[in-house]
Amino acid sequence: MRTLNGITYLSSHVFDKGVAHGFLTRKGGVSAPPYESLNFGEREADKRDNLAENRKRVLAAFGAASLFTINQVHGSGVFCLGPDAPLAPPEADAIITAEEGAAIGILTADCLPVLLFDPVNRAVSAVHAGWRGTALGVTLNAVREMGKAFGTKPRDLKAAIGPSIGPCCYSVGENVYEEFRTQGRSLDSFISLDDGLRLDLGAENISQLLSLGVDQRNISGSAPCTACSADFFSYRRDQGRTGRQLSFIMLRVRDWAAGR
Ligand SMILES: [Zn+2]
Repeated sequence: MRTLNGITYLSSHVFDKGVAHGFLTRKGGVSAPPYESLNFGEREADKRDNLAENRKRVLAAFGAASLFTINQVHGSGVFCLGPDAPLAPPEADAIITAEEGAAIGILTADCLPVLLFDPVNRAVSAVHAGWRGTALGVTLNAVREMGKAFGTKPRDLKAAIGPSIGPCCYSVGENVYEEFRTQGRSLDSFISLDDGLRLDLGAENISQLLSLGVDQRNISGSAPCTACSADFFSYRRDQGRTGRQLSFIMLRVRDWAAGR
């Protein structure tokens, strides 16, 4: 865990100084219970002023000019952010961009955030992968769309798998298993225990990245379980009355004069 201006977050070793990024915890904001304290979830009953202050603090801490988020719908749609952000957040579950200085973010409370960086073509992506999005292949779609929009090749890609509910806590029903089967996904990330099925979202998203040709050495995982760790909002642990943590990535503005 790192701390910057009171904001506690996780970072990945696979990214270089070309990007700023963070898997933020719930610590370092101003929201009151049950949203304490660094809440970004606008669908919850948190005060607008608190959400605005939380956003302001994160932008200031990481030197971002803006933060773009989407209307996440547990699908597999990918939105490409250009120079002009739309006025209303589009419905999608992944964002890709080559804009410098524009942070792109995903909100979660148990679902899996995935951050991607192509250092060759200088492009980034933030992906929201819950079980539905994972079954639909939202991470696969994000990589493919980066290829179409920016020429990204999977072998160049760096990927960080963030904190989500882990297989220690993520009991799922047969319907989840059936949906993965229907979508033609691997079923290797399900664990069958005496009390039912568990799903390892991180393992499944890593295997999807590997299937496209992303190098294992360019993928970082092993983030804590959001339901086990009090540092994170967890929808399941908190029985729905909770906030949303932010995971973001941003291409740093290049310093041409310094040649980097
Ligand atoms: Zn757990």
